[in-house]
Amino acid sequence: YGKVNGRNARLFYTEQMNEDYHEVLVLDADIRKALQRNEFELYYQPQIDVTSGDVIGLEALIRWHHPKKGPISPAKFIPLAEESGVITQIGEWVINEACRQHREWVNQGFVPIRIAVNVSAIELQRVDFADQVAEIMHQTKMDPRYLEIEITENSVMQNTEDCIQTMNTLKQMGISLSIDDFGTGYSSFGYLKQFPIQYLKIDQSFIRSALKEQSSAAIVKAMIQLAHNFGLKVIAEGVEDKDILHLLQLESCDYYQGYYFSRPVAAQVVQDNVLKRKIN
Ligand code: C2E
Ligand code: MG
Ligand code: MG
Ligand code: MG
Repeated sequence: YGKVNGRNARLFYTEQMNEDYHEVLVLDADIRKALQRNEFELYYQPQIDVTSGDVIGLEALIRWHHPKKGPISPAKFIPLAEESGVITQIGEWVINEACRQHREWVNQGFVPIRIAVNVSAIELQRVDFADQVAEIMHQTKMDPRYLEIEITENSVMQNTEDCIQTMNTLKQMGISLSIDDFGTGYSSFGYLKQFPIQYLKIDQSFIRSALKEQSSAAIVKAMIQLAHNFGLKVIAEGVEDKDILHLLQLESCDYYQGYYFSRPVAAQVVQDNVLKRKIN
């Protein structure tokens, strides 16, 4: 907990920080137990081809069913897990579970579909991250063509050289990479061409305001054009109605995700409603 360390600790140490620190510790202990007790689950949100309407992929999103506190949002516990370091174990569980599920679906005769997992900056910065992923893929017999790793632009910007090297290794392994929440961070367009990525995910804040604000619509349009100039496919996040989908069709966006098509759902629901069986 860096901020409380060091010479200036007393100056900056406040009641609020005390509470925050306590919360991190409690959650850290809870998360370690949760991993052992199988309290985590992956939900999947379909990604749709804007033109054909076909499901082209699934984003895996973690869910925590806390025995006492009920469901806890990843928006709440992922940042705490990053702070305590336990994100490493969560991340390993997530990739393993996504690959295991994919293998199970393939074994059951479903047409394989790409699965995207979210990876946080702390995981990406580990020197053994790519090795860890390779080991999981080997164990689960996951075909790397069906694995996608989502990284936020801020996480790449924290340790750019090393991150790009890890990303290159992952790409060489056959995994695809995407930049998540694009537009919310502080990476410049200039950096984009250095990243060995295939997909750009436009953050939902731009998508949501695109119909209300001329400026957001212009930003969305510019991002799509820029990504296409770099040879990237664009995924719009947070599509909640058909008006915004129409706008995305007009601007030649490639894919979208959002409540309009489906919320994130349990594996069984994906299997029953989204996946297709192989013909023979
Ligand atoms: P994200 O990766 O940008 O995921 C998109 C979030 O937007 C998800 O929230 C999803 O449920 C939500 N969403 C999708 N469509 C719509 C829509 O049409 N409207 C609205 N209002 N929301 C929509 P969720 O599942 O709560 O996850 C929040 C964030 O937590 C994720 O943002 C991601 O940064 C993080 N996260 C989730 N699962 C993992 C994980 O396994 N590992 C890591 N490191 N982070 C994760
Ligand atoms: Mg994501
Ligand atoms: Mg996102
Ligand atoms: Mg996000």
